[in-house]
Amino acid sequence: MPEVAPMLIVCAEEARVESELVGGLLACPSCRGVLGRWGHARERVLRCRSGDRLVRPRRARCQGCSGTHVLLPDVALLRRQDEVSVIGAAIEAKVAGEGHRPIACRLGVPAGTVRGWLRRFAERAELIRAHFTRCAVALDPELGPVLPAGSTIADVLEAIAVAARAWVLRFGPGDPWRIACVLSAGVLLCNTSTPLELVW
Ligand SMILES: [Zn+2]
Repeated sequence: MPEVAPMLIVCAEEARVESELVGGLLACPSCRGVLGRWGHARERVLRCRSGDRLVRPRRARCQGCSGTHVLLPDVALLRRQDEVSVIGAAIEAKVAGEGHRPIACRLGVPAGTVRGWLRRFAERAELIRAHFTRCAVALDPELGPVLPAGSTIADVLEAIAVAARAWVLRFGPGDPWRIACVLSAGVLLCNTSTPLELVW
């Protein structure tokens, strides 16, 4: 399997990303050097709840290691065409006991696509649970134990929710699935060999 280049997940608001790049506020995910503007990655269509959205992620170049990085907006996961909150809604529905076909129907996504998300989520369950538990503790060292939620995937969802709450307490309000995107560096549902690392 090919390695995934280190990814930086940024706010979906383009103007803010531009000003952060100009101000030297974004750090290289490889070496923590300062990132500067370096053109754009190819355009792609992101299927959102509000309809299709054309996104053209920024590319940035590190002034330290000269590496270039695609700045993926926090509404998108790497190699997934649907908005992260739609994927998250499918995962929440699965944990609540709904099957992939009714979920797909309700979300207006092909059944095979939803099945693919849920299968990958289940395959990576332990990796994701452990990662978000580490994130939660890193964000909130006072955090108590994360309690079992009743099933393997429910435990994973609980770990994500706890980490997102810890993020909100520390950094302010945010959408839990966009936070999950940031905390997973966009590789939440990548193949099983792609590690999840602490990224901030
Ligand atoms: Zn660098």
